[in-house]
Amino acid sequence: MRLILLGPPGAGKGTQAQRLMDAYNIVQLSTGDMLRAAVAAGTEVGLRARAVMEAGDLVSDDIVVGIISDRVDEPDCKNGFILDGFPRTLAQAEALELMLTEKKLRLDAVIEMQVDDGLLIDRVTGRYTCANCGAGYHDKNLKPKVDGVCDNCGRTEFSRRADDNAETVASRLQAYHEQTAPLLPFYRAKGNLQTVDGMADIDDVTKAMRTLLGVG
Ligand code: ADP
Ligand code: AMP
Repeated sequence: MRLILLGPPGAGKGTQAQRLMDAYNIVQLSTGDMLRAAVAAGTEVGLRARAVMEAGDLVSDDIVVGIISDRVDEPDCKNGFILDGFPRTLAQAEALELMLTEKKLRLDAVIEMQVDDGLLIDRVTGRYTCANCGAGYHDKNLKPKVDGVCDNCGRTEFSRRADDNAETVASRLQAYHEQTAPLLPFYRAKGNLQTVDGMADIDDVTKAMRTLLGVG
């Protein structure tokens, strides 16, 4: 199973990708996570990406296409993958088509997660993750069962992304509308775009996705 999750920052792509991974035994490929890892490691890619990410702009197509092309060749992608945050421009979508054809791989679905802009600032600024295992939470929408303790691993340190502030979110939303939203008609024309209501409860979004993908 090979999927693309399309949606603005805060739509719930990462949250749902984590759940779909278990259902299908496939991996989540988040270009945002990979770029943050490159920034933290101080690699050449990280050095090129850092300021762009801090400003909420998009990193160049050649960098992210190169990262994804290498990543899908890894053995853990054999069963399939969920692309989260890639492609984000028409040039990336076209490069992905070419890449998949060359690798003799087929895309099974593109799922758009629809969320109104008004909800996204709160989603993104309230987001935090466990510093140990990466489990995702939200100040209001998804709190740990025991305050301050990760449900998944029991640790008590959490972190927030540097770009999850109101000012940067505005730039990221603008980048989404200007550069990523044109992918919707692109995939619709190819006949593989499906849409879920990303404003429903987290569990209901998961159910809708599983139904749509045939794992009820
Ligand atoms: P994305 O990966 O699309 O940027 P995330 O999956 O990280 O978005 O979700 C952003 C924040 O919103 C997280 O804190 C998450 O817990 C919360 N969230 C995700 N889906 C929903 C939902 N359906 N309803 C309410 N909050 C949600
Ligand atoms: P995300 O984790 O998906 O919210 O991405 C965080 C940031 O990483 C974005 O605001 C961009 O600066 C950068 N980024 C992630 N994926 C891409 C991509 N496919 N193309 C360009 N920039 C990206």
